[in-house]
Amino acid sequence: MAGEPQDDCLFCKIVAGTIPATIVRETDTTIAFRDINPQAPTHVLVIPKAHHQDAAALAAAAPEVAADVLRETQAVADEEKLESYRIVFNTGSGAGQTVWHAHAHVLGGRGLEWPPG
Ligand code: ADP
Repeated sequence: MAGEPQDDCLFCKIVAGTIPATIVRETDTTIAFRDINPQAPTHVLVIPKAHHQDAAALAAAAPEVAADVLRETQAVADEEKLESYRIVFNTGSGAGQTVWHAHAHVLGGRGLEWPPG
């Protein structure tokens, strides 16, 4: 069911605390932790605690939590003192999504080119 923890989901395990992560922020509905394979000096993932497979599913099922995730990306950027940064929601395998639990990448601390690869 939408929002329920999934046994085979890596990020649900991070939410449950059964897989370690470097958590930088936590709210009632979200956590933010450092990406294990950082692509920039700051690379933090902001996720809903509830399981939704991607950003579109999250926005459809729980728009208020999608707003919480966006608010937290800004809070991470403020804490990391990022003047410019990029928020990325890879959605679908063709866009590079590999973990099927909605997550926003917050990338900053270096120049970022456009278009992305
Ligand atoms: P991609 O792997 O192409 O970036 P996603 O957009 O689905 O695809 O992002 C998943 C992200 O999760 C990756 O940046 C990956 O480095 C990160 N990741 C995978 N396992 C962990 C972990 N245990 N702790 C923190 N980040 C992780």
